[in-house]
Amino acid sequence: MRTVEREEVIPARSGRTLGRALALAVFFAAAGAPGPAAQDAPPRPYREAVDRMRGIGLLEEKAYDFLSRITAVGPRLTGSPQADRAVEVSLRIMEELGFENVHTEPVTVGRWVRGDVEEASIVGQKNGGGDVPLQVCALGGSVPTPAAGLVAPVVEVRSFEELARLGASVKGKIVFYNRPMDRTLLDTFGAYGKAADQRVRGASEAARYGAVAALVRSLTLRVNDHPHTGLMQYEPGVTRIPAAAVSTAGADRLSGLLEEDPELRLRLRMDCRTEKSVVSANVVGEITGSEHPKEIVLVGGHLDSWDLGTGAHDDGAGCAVSLEALRLIKAAGLRPKRTVRAVLFMDEEFGGTGGRAYARAPQRRGERHLFAAESDRGGFLPVGLAAGGGSRAAFERIKTYEDLFRPLGILFISPGGGGVDIAPLVEQGTVPAAVILNAQTYFDVHHSALDVLSRVHPRELELQAVVLAALAYLVAQEGL
Ligand SMILES: [Zn+2]
Repeated sequence: MRTVEREEVIPARSGRTLGRALALAVFFAAAGAPGPAAQDAPPRPYREAVDRMRGIGLLEEKAYDFLSRITAVGPRLTGSPQADRAVEVSLRIMEELGFENVHTEPVTVGRWVRGDVEEASIVGQKNGGGDVPLQVCALGGSVPTPAAGLVAPVVEVRSFEELARLGASVKGKIVFYNRPMDRTLLDTFGAYGKAADQRVRGASEAARYGAVAALVRSLTLRVNDHPHTGLMQYEPGVTRIPAAAVSTAGADRLSGLLEEDPELRLRLRMDCRTEKSVVSANVVGEITGSEHPKEIVLVGGHLDSWDLGTGAHDDGAGCAVSLEALRLIKAAGLRPKRTVRAVLFMDEEFGGTGGRAYARAPQRRGERHLFAAESDRGGFLPVGLAAGGGSRAAFERIKTYEDLFRPLGILFISPGGGGVDIAPLVEQGTVPAAVILNAQTYFDVHHSALDVLSRVHPRELELQAVVLAALAYLVAQEGL
């Protein structure tokens, strides 16, 4: 390792350079150059470069600007006109920032449309009460109900094992999956993972026993009336029945009423549909490596989102921090030895066609993807790094940079990393990574109408970009 050398410094093209330099001078004077961490740790190469990126990032908070431009196009459901606009917007941002080799790569994606009608209500009960409306939303990929809706008795289960025990007795009924996310887990992604099978496979599992629809408790730790959508998948050869999510408050209400009246019936009406596949795109831009341009250090997120909110946390944030990471490297005057590339993937939410298309695109021939950091965990405060995937050696290598990350608020570096979009690269030997965030509130908004720009904090988002920029730059310089 060595310190940043002169020839690595490329002139910044921005007309705001002088203003930025002055502002940074003020920043570092206030902070006491070369930064407080230098006093309690031995001097390290790269500290200056990382400090510079942190200074520029925290001062300018451009990640939030990029996020606001991406979310301004609206919900970016795969295959939708808004998703196309998001491709145009992010292409323009990359060009404005002076990234190199800026282009799109085609991805053929499915197109599911929510439609105009999604309603559910508990039909008038035996104690004489009127209909009780429930807040529901169709799950992505679901077939519609008959145009007039369907009315059927409801059976509540908490697991597929429980469903199997009920067997044919669920025939003609709506299966209501009501297993909540495990509140006792600190890892909210782990809690989500333990409950998501109901949403993804619930319809086909219920249809095996003759159920007419599946209703799934929303995957969130909050109890409120916002339904959370997400992907569901039909198993080949099994009858396709409609699948919807019900808000957590609605799920509790329904469960309580079922206890009083196990015979109660639910009305469900949805007119979602699947249309013809369309051609969409991944968006790619880079800082070409000065010594090993064909060796790629990738940072990325996904441009598509669900359609209830504007996908600010999921995953406008991942796109914004990827763009900002490259901007910070450039703005700090650094020219990495290996190529640092930002890839904004299309169609993560409906199964990752963008990630697969990227990995097998003709442009990949002759390229070697050393490292890929996927940001798809929201726009929250970074607290750790997961890196290395299955490679202990790569993890150990990145772990040696710990003291560079500590001043950025990184408390730990652990083995791991990865994501849907980079999975095809990881299968080919690319080392994965992910910035770990304080995601305690992520599932409050995830896949719901609450996932909007105002739920993202500019400074927390920026810190994620700074950590990503430092990580990408270090790997681009040092290799793995
Ligand atoms: Zn996502």
